[in-house]
Amino acid sequence: MGDKTTITIPGWQSISYFSETTNICWFLEPEFAKEVVRLHNVVGNAVTEGRYIVVGTGSSQLILAALYALSSHDAAEPIDVVSAAPYYSSYPLMTDFQKSGHYKWGGDARSFDKDGPYIELVTSPNNPEGHKTGPVLNRSNGLLIHDLAYYWPHYTPISSPSDHDITLFTVSKSTGHAGLRIGWALVKDQEVAKRMTKFIELNTIGVSKDSQLRAAKVLKVVSDSTEEENTEEGKSFFKYSYDVMEQRWKQLRAALEANGLFTVAYFPTGFCTFFNKKTENLPAFVWMKCEKDIENCQSLLRQHKILSRGGKHFGVSQRYVRVSLLDTNENFNLFIDRLSAMQL
Ligand code: PMP
Repeated sequence: MGDKTTITIPGWQSISYFSETTNICWFLEPEFAKEVVRLHNVVGNAVTEGRYIVVGTGSSQLILAALYALSSHDAAEPIDVVSAAPYYSSYPLMTDFQKSGHYKWGGDARSFDKDGPYIELVTSPNNPEGHKTGPVLNRSNGLLIHDLAYYWPHYTPISSPSDHDITLFTVSKSTGHAGLRIGWALVKDQEVAKRMTKFIELNTIGVSKDSQLRAAKVLKVVSDSTEEENTEEGKSFFKYSYDVMEQRWKQLRAALEANGLFTVAYFPTGFCTFFNKKTENLPAFVWMKCEKDIENCQSLLRQHKILSRGGKHFGVSQRYVRVSLLDTNENFNLFIDRLSAMQL
């Protein structure tokens, strides 16, 4: 995209804490909010009408803000927070690291057998597996947080606009700008949006305006590139990224076939309303299972100079590992070379 996403920030800008005092999320930059709505409309992956947008320092901060907002602050017991294993490895750590009196980690949603209220974190497509998922408990006293970090057309077919009570997205995964530390929540309920905003106020008194302005520009260029493609001006960001992911998964499957040490799920294709055709599921991670008699898959890969994250972090056995596929071309090719050369 060359210089298209460059912005200039004058020295006098961003002096105040406030962005728009009439907005519930008073530190939300209007330009960023506008581009979030536009991008969701262009991609068709989320309903934005009638939603409150809450911006966060990454979706990480919004996960905590949502836990704070959904938990009852005068309950006798902290509410249980659950997610179906294998779950995103940070969930248990972030839930418990401050030993909140409001909420606590309750483990794998599939084995949660208490009667009381709970919060279920739903990640779709899932990190680490890459499948589309939904809540597993479906009880009337459950509260849901949908983490849709990977619900973008270069990772998964867009089937319909998501329409949940709390939906989280992040530039870390939509465009890879993890260093901007910008995520956003689409929230149906005004009280929940207020409480999430309060959490961020008490935590960091808002979210970097400079980052929001950069993120706004990045999202704008992504939306522009899609509209330009429709006028035949070039490949859109999503088409380009889809092609990269498709190529990487091809290389990966060939390498896995060559060494025969691991199994990886096959994903069904699905109709993508964004590309208007059937597309592949191309997860940002590969979730591999060691097939031979290997106890610790992570250390086996480590011996072959491949860094991965072992199954225990995701609530399952050490025979599973997750490897990121979003590194630079150079590192990805090194990974493929090392994987192909592996033998027992
Ligand atoms: N949710 C999921 C499922 C993730 O994979 C990640 C990043 N690994 C996050 C949230 C956190 O992202 P952020 O950089 O926006 O804090």
